[in-house]
Parts: sequence; C-alpha cells; structure tokens
Amino acid sequence: MRRAQIVRWGEPLEIREYPTPKPQGTEVLVRVTACGVCHSDLHIHQGFFDLGGGEKLSIEERGVRLPFTMGHEIAGEVVELGPDAPRGLAEPGREYVVHPWIGCGSCAFCKKGLEHYCPKPRFLGTVVDGGYGDYVIVPHPRYLVPFDGLPREVACTLACSGVTAFGALQKIGRELDGWPVMLLGLGGVGAAALAMIRLVTDAPVYVADIDPKKRDYALSRGAAAVFDPAEAGAEKKVREASGGGVGTVIDFVGRPETARFALGSLVTKGGTLVVVGLYGDRLQIPMPYFPLRALTIRGSYVGTVEDLRTLVRLAQEGRFEPVPVHTRPLEEANAALEDLAAGRVVGRQVLVP
Ligand SMILES: [Zn+2]
Ligand SMILES: [Zn+2]
Repeated sequence: MRRAQIVRWGEPLEIREYPTPKPQGTEVLVRVTACGVCHSDLHIHQGFFDLGGGEKLSIEERGVRLPFTMGHEIAGEVVELGPDAPRGLAEPGREYVVHPWIGCGSCAFCKKGLEHYCPKPRFLGTVVDGGYGDYVIVPHPRYLVPFDGLPREVACTLACSGVTAFGALQKIGRELDGWPVMLLGLGGVGAAALAMIRLVTDAPVYVADIDPKKRDYALSRGAAAVFDPAEAGAEKKVREASGGGVGTVIDFVGRPETARFALGSLVTKGGTLVVVGLYGDRLQIPMPYFPLRALTIRGSYVGTVEDLRTLVRLAQEGRFEPVPVHTRPLEEANAALEDLAAGRVVGRQVLVP
C-alpha cells in the first residue's frame, strides 16, 4: 500500500510503499476511498502550532513520530475485521465515514463519550497514521458511521470540518438569541458552518472574509451581509449594519487581527467570541472587558462520534446543503496543501487514493 507521508517537517510529502497492515484485536482495516485536506494539516505538516512571542507548540512533543501520515477526514470501505472486533457494527464491503477523534478509551473523558478531550489521544491523522494512503487501521468498529445515499467525498468532510462547524454553532451565545451571528473566515470549516447555521438559529448571518470570492460565495449561500475585515473601519460598519453589534462571532481563522476585529464587532455587553481557527500567535485583551462587557471568549474543538452520527443523518435527510468539494488524486497531496496555504480553495479538497 502507498502512504503520502511527512518525512521531514515542512518538506514535501513523500509517497512510500508499505505492506498492507493486518487488523489486530478489535481493529478494522479500511480501504480509503476519500480523504479531505484540512487546514490543520498545514500546521501538522510544519510541525508546530504558533503560540506567538516566538513560542511554538511542537507536534513531536505531542508524541507524533516521522514518517507520519496525515489525513483525518476519511471515508472508506471495510476490508477486514480483527479477531476480537465485535460483529454487527461494520460489514466488510460497506463504506463508512471514520470518526478520527479517538481517545484512550479508559479515562474519565472517554468514559463520558468525550474522547476528543482525552489527554492520551489516538487521533487518526494527527497523532497516529491517517488517511493520506490506500488503507488505514481504525482501532474499533464503533468509530465507523455508515453514510448510504451521500457522496463519499462529501461524507468524509463531515468528520472534521462538519463536526467542527456543528460544534462551534452549538456555542452561539444563548443569552443574545436572535442577535446577528458573524462567521469570520470562510475556509472549509467556515463554509460548512454557513451551510448548517439554519439548523441552530434563525438569526441574521454575517460573513467576514478578506477574499471577495468568498464574500460572493457567502451572499450566494444566504448571508445577510458580508464584510472585509481588512478594510479600515470594518468593525464600525458591522456595528452600524446590526444596530449596535453582533451577538456572537465565530472566528474560523484564529489570529490576533481576527479576534480584535471580532471584539470590535460584538455588542457592547453580553457578546460571545468562539475561537475555532488555529492560525496562531497571541491575543492581548484588557481584563476589565470580561466583567464590564459581560464578555465570553471560548474555544471549540472538533466533536464526538455521536455528533458525527447526528450530522450524517441530517445530511442524509437533506437538512443542509454540503460545501463544494474538489477531488484530486493522492499523488497531488502536496499541490493540495500548497493551494490551501495560498487561499486558492473555495470549499474542501478531497484526496482520492
Ligand atoms: Zn481538520
Ligand atoms: Zn481517554
């Protein structure tokens, strides 16, 4: 089997040949049929997250060893179940979306179903080998979600951009229900959030992005107003358009500039900023804002296998229109990462081995 791997941090991926693994214990061998390219893959590929002030959060310190196979938005066909894998959860020959946010299985978080908060994660494609390859090993069939009726290129994106967007939308500030919500940064996850927002609120939706193409796309998909956050006085325009500010901003970029724009666009009191993007650097914020502005700043990180099941069902019922996807062969993994880094992608790129 082939794997497109990071061999040295930040250098082009190399396609290497390996023996196809045999599933052990409860494991399942899955033949990858589609794997989305996520913005966080750019950070993993570089080997670190930027904490600002010259500090870095290294991927190696999180236990990742090279060569490493990225890819956490995986759809694939079950080939073989390990000898101890319970029968009835997944059938050979059928295709599934793989839930990649897999924990240790025994800590307090995992026991509560919050495997994505596990301190000893086994996340596919970010900690252990993922879907940029012909096959992937999944630790247990309970992480496989059938998606009959959906295109595989669309279904796979629900595992990260889908559940991440869905999870962030659940965190819209309830206190200011009905106030406009602003989605900041219309990459793959932001676009997924725009597609799903009517599942959670009827509030007017604003979109801010520096790219006019993405602003046009937002208007074509129902945004009430769009803004260019790089324009001078953009915050003032948002406050004027909304009659005092938006209730919640979801920041899909995660830079100090976007957070400052968000804080300037929020209502004077009671607003919520949800940070999802991992772009990096650090934010300075006057402490009195927290009480004086009754301000909430919170993060949101992927989701549970139950979130994925819910989202697949909602997609099957046609309750939201999926984001556009562009498929590319596995051999183009490097070009896909470059296009994503250069901001040339509207929607999601999906590698097809
Ligand atoms: Zn992702
Ligand atoms: Zn755990």
